Amino acid sequence: MKNELDALVPLGRRSLIQATNLTVTILVASLVAMKMIFLGLDSPPLPAFFVVITGLTNAIYIRRKGSIDIAAWILVVTSLLGLAFASVYTGGFGAPVILLAPIVPIMTVLLINTRAACISLGLTCLILAGVFVLSVYGYVPENPKDPNLVLFGDYIVLTYLCLVSTWVVSRYASISRTLLVKLEKQSNIDYLTNILNRRAIEARLLLEVGRAKRSDTWLSFIMADVDFFKLYNDSNGHQAGDNCLKDIARLLDDCCERPTDVVGRFGGEEFVLILPDTNIDGARRVAENIRKKMTDLNIPYGPQKPEPVTLTLGIVSAHGNTIDSIEKLIRDADAALYKGKDKGRNCVVSKVFGEPEVKR
Ligand code: GH3
Ligand code: MG
Ligand code: MG
Repeated sequence: MKNELDALVPLGRRSLIQATNLTVTILVASLVAMKMIFLGLDSPPLPAFFVVITGLTNAIYIRRKGSIDIAAWILVVTSLLGLAFASVYTGGFGAPVILLAPIVPIMTVLLINTRAACISLGLTCLILAGVFVLSVYGYVPENPKDPNLVLFGDYIVLTYLCLVSTWVVSRYASISRTLLVKLEKQSNIDYLTNILNRRAIEARLLLEVGRAKRSDTWLSFIMADVDFFKLYNDSNGHQAGDNCLKDIARLLDDCCERPTDVVGRFGGEEFVLILPDTNIDGARRVAENIRKKMTDLNIPYGPQKPEPVTLTLGIVSAHGNTIDSIEKLIRDADAALYKGKDKGRNCVVSKVFGEPEVKR
């Protein structure tokens, strides 16, 4: 859970705990200040004093690199005690401070873990029950101030709390949304070449197969493999090999002519292209263009083989109504590719399935 939290909170756990600690402290201090102004209290109420002093001490402790677990627990326990004392002090079960109760377990799950949140939820319920019993049996002291003034003060307190909690929730929602978008992108993009990865390619292929079947159109799938790439790595080193793969990915991306064409890294030194609504003639033109541009890029293999690095490409073009599955499509493109390797590499080999039904 802590690791997940670390991933979810970009600022880090220490900053999150410090931010929550200071928010609670400042919130309580400013609420008391407002009550003192509006209700004319001479001195700050004892519970608030306790929360503010503990909060400030905790802030110094966190700043001085104290244990963040201990700091989180101090914060949670202070909030629970503050909740209990403040509700009795300000009018028992009817006090607006009681509305703060659910914040404690929510805060606990963010700061510590779910088990601690369950414990704090249990304690919160116990405190609420205790305050309720005290109120029923009249052990809660009467508020000596003007009831209308108390009501007005409570209204201001509640409005303030609503604004602060709305801000906190919207801040978390926006952080989570940004992270989700980032995660979604990361899970579909190949880390090295910055084009789609195998997972994303398979998902896209499934989508395009469905579309080709529905709209009764052609779909072409190209698989490209770098020739003798092991030799390139052995001659130039793995880092240069990585750079070469990045250059190839860029070249393939540039050769995708239509906005619906998709390029991805299938694994190692194998790349693929999905060309929707493209028959064998179009696919062959794209593949030949790639093969030629790759040679023009002129990346030499190394001292033993000064010729440029080349690609072998296997194409499968199928009409929507003849496609069985994406696995079969991939297998067929792979078979065409290996036929190209057998033929001597640096070439394009294709396989075609089906013809469109004649439409009347
Ligand atoms: P062929 O023409 O038959 O495809 O020969 P090849 O040498 O390209 O094929 P082989 O499968 O023998 O070797 C593939 C090489 O690709 C081996 C591996 O080190 C390299 N490779 C795979 N992934 C990466 C990578 O991410 N970075 C680098 N630098 N090299 C990689
Ligand atoms: Mg390979
Ligand atoms: Mg290869």
